[in-house]
Amino acid sequence: TKNVYSFSEGNAEMKGLLGGKGANLAEMTRLGLPVPDGFTITTETCMTYLNNERMLTKDVQDEIELHLKQLEERSGKSLNDPENMMLLSVRSGSKFSMPGMMDTVLNLGLNDENVEHLARVTQDEEFAYDCYRRLLQMFGDVVYGIDGSHFENFLEFYKRKNRVKLDSELTADQLKEIVHEYKRIYLEIKKQAFPQNPKEQLFAAIEAVFSSWNNERANIYRKLHDISDDLGTAVNIQLMVFGNSGPNSGTGVAFTRNPSTGENKLFGEYLINAQGEDVVAGIRTPLPISELKTAMPEVYKQFFEMSETLEKHYQDMQDIEFTIENKKLYLLQTRNGKRTAHAAFKVAVDMVEEGLKTKEEAILSLDPHSVNQLLHPVFVEEALKSAELISTVGLPASPGSATGKICFDAAVAKEWSERGEKVILVRQETSPEDIGGMVVSQAIVTSRGGMTSHAAVVARGMGTCCVAGCSELEIDEFIKTVTYPKGVLKEGDIISVDGTNGDLYVGEVSLELSEKNEYFETVMAWSKEFSRLEVRMNAEMTSDIETGMAFEASGIGLVRTEHMFFAPERLIEMRRFILASNQEERNKALQTILGYQIDDFKEIFKTISGKSTVIRLLDPPLHEFVPSKEGDIRKIAEEMGVQYDYLQHRVNELHEINPMLGHRGCRLAVTYPELYIMQVEAIIRSAIELKKSSQMEVFPEIMIPLVGMEGELSSLRTKLENHINHIMDSEDCSVPFTLGTMIELPRACLIADELAKSADFFSFGTNDLTQMTFGFSRDDAAKYINQYLAEGVLPIDPFQTLDVTGVGELIKIAVEKTRKTKPDMKIGVCGELGGDPHSIEFFDQLGLDYVSCSPYRVPVAYLAAAKSGI
Ligand code: ADP
Ligand code: MG
Ligand code: MG
Repeated sequence: TKNVYSFSEGNAEMKGLLGGKGANLAEMTRLGLPVPDGFTITTETCMTYLNNERMLTKDVQDEIELHLKQLEERSGKSLNDPENMMLLSVRSGSKFSMPGMMDTVLNLGLNDENVEHLARVTQDEEFAYDCYRRLLQMFGDVVYGIDGSHFENFLEFYKRKNRVKLDSELTADQLKEIVHEYKRIYLEIKKQAFPQNPKEQLFAAIEAVFSSWNNERANIYRKLHDISDDLGTAVNIQLMVFGNSGPNSGTGVAFTRNPSTGENKLFGEYLINAQGEDVVAGIRTPLPISELKTAMPEVYKQFFEMSETLEKHYQDMQDIEFTIENKKLYLLQTRNGKRTAHAAFKVAVDMVEEGLKTKEEAILSLDPHSVNQLLHPVFVEEALKSAELISTVGLPASPGSATGKICFDAAVAKEWSERGEKVILVRQETSPEDIGGMVVSQAIVTSRGGMTSHAAVVARGMGTCCVAGCSELEIDEFIKTVTYPKGVLKEGDIISVDGTNGDLYVGEVSLELSEKNEYFETVMAWSKEFSRLEVRMNAEMTSDIETGMAFEASGIGLVRTEHMFFAPERLIEMRRFILASNQEERNKALQTILGYQIDDFKEIFKTISGKSTVIRLLDPPLHEFVPSKEGDIRKIAEEMGVQYDYLQHRVNELHEINPMLGHRGCRLAVTYPELYIMQVEAIIRSAIELKKSSQMEVFPEIMIPLVGMEGELSSLRTKLENHINHIMDSEDCSVPFTLGTMIELPRACLIADELAKSADFFSFGTNDLTQMTFGFSRDDAAKYINQYLAEGVLPIDPFQTLDVTGVGELIKIAVEKTRKTKPDMKIGVCGELGGDPHSIEFFDQLGLDYVSCSPYRVPVAYLAAAKSGI
């Protein structure tokens, strides 16, 4: 096998093997763009190395040596030639971009001796020693695992002592002192000197990059983004170009469009006389790219043209890293830029209009989960007016609005959020170590750094609201205070953060839902064109139904009737029914409930204006309706006019050890048929009343829950149908309806062909089906599922994403069996998984008719269904 590819041998298709960075460096080289020459060691080599007790085989070593020699020949430079020194950058890069997760070593090849030559040849001692101190710092951190703070703290201390503000202002003599101290840190912490041999440095760096695949930050990031642990990282070895070689040099990053808003305008930042991560690390606040236009018009023009070339070539917004060395421009990286949901939707729609993408490609480029961000709440305009401002100078780094308690430390943020608190991480700047705390925060606020700082990039990627570079804040992470122009806040104080314009407020500001935007509307319209699946909503409250209607749900896939029984005046009647000692009392209670239910259904039918509506008959165990505390029982006994002892006795009778496996669903109606009879009567009567009073046609689909046996369904069906026919006859009015069942027991899946004989439709209740298949209690499983996920025993939480292998297989069997009996029977899904993009893809492939989910997930489901349909 080939382990090493020179940049001229690869291309953009080879991301798996060369990593994203390597593949794109090769692609840019092929396009004739100015990329410093180099080569890439493959991701496979990394995995072999990691699985081979971290040993580089002789073959791999030889192959690297060969490519190194060829690079020396092509460049006319050498690791051992003091006149033409070859300095290298060693850069990691896996298949998926993992910003800041893996590590880079720059200026590799320098040592005590040749740094003097570099100074002599470039006639710039400051430059040479700046490179050297950077190498010592990065190499120490990445390769020797010496905590970066040892170097940074010393540098801070040294600068303060010598009254130097910026790194770039350090003199050569000062840099020499710093280098001296850095080397001492090696001996103190690592008990080993910095290796002077360039080749030894190189191989140590390669192995360190390979090993960094398994560092903790990388592991957390992969978990968070569902990236496999088996991919490995490539290593890119590249000639250095120097942005830190004086006032005509610099380094920067730019997006071809605004990653926050999607505006089609070059967006970026740069720093003069700087290297590497200076821009993103937030050490100095960078200049906007538009200033490069005046500072170096030629370079700007070139860069602008190249950025357009790249965007056209990749047909997507690019995130480009560049360096200028003595007015010569080099490109160091390009990738599809991370963006906010707002930007993603705008860019997708704009690119279709610009002819860069087809509608299908635009849809495929969007992540259904990101829809949630578009529907993020915003601060109430009125509430903002009276709120006390902390600052308005921060950068709007990632949109959204959030309120929470200030935390200065990622670990504290994690701890507080685990006990259910909403936290906001407030820091001078963030670093990859903070990722664990950033994930759990409602918002991230920093006092330093720009729009491309670590905090900003990571927050946008996660869809978390972020305000960066809020320079008015003086954040003391040690004594845990934030000083702002008008006051001081401490850890635990509540603030509100507006990531859309960068403003911060004291205390909690109330939130409301944001308005829909035109790009979202366009994407939704396209999604409907391309999705084969219908999307319904699970809803029974008027306001929820209206929300789902606004998202153009095609009907209601689940009305949970039990939700209608909890209002106090109804609960008492329900209790009378449950606790009654004779049939007469029971009927009387039911008559009252019937009246309520007729009104309920009329309201639902009117709101949904004639679209199909699946109504599930009563499902939960009866004991959920009765009191359990003595005081409550006494109060209710009084209300009902019965003895306390009697009531207590009935409550005990209803008690079940395993209520979720208990007397619930259709089992209630097998024992109390009058309950379901009352409910279907309410459904049919409300339909008849609407038809008679306003000629409104409604389409109730009556659903019987928790059926596991054919006999349950057929006997109930007969009873309910008889009653319905009786009502229609006596009212002399007929309304269309269907009777079906919810499939939520493994047994029901296995006998679906039998059940289909007595059903007009099926709907998979994925919550219960998952619970019953795994034998996991939905209400308690979270405690150990997290452990299962952490240990890799479960790849996904089956209550969030369909377990295709088990639960999915049962669904597949049920669908196949059903289609045998009734090829055209309508089959849908209700339950949380109906709104989960991965699961939706599976349901679409099975050929189901619709998915149904909570109203806010309707647009997510449409987009997922469209992607699956394309
Ligand atoms: P990351 O994946 O964390 O962005 P990179 O490999 O892109 O890491 O390296 C970080 C930074 O180091 C780059 O943005 C660039 O500024 C600098 N860098 C990398 N390679 C070179 C090079 N060959 N010459 C000059 N600077 C480089
Ligand atoms: Mg990095
Ligand atoms: Mg980079």
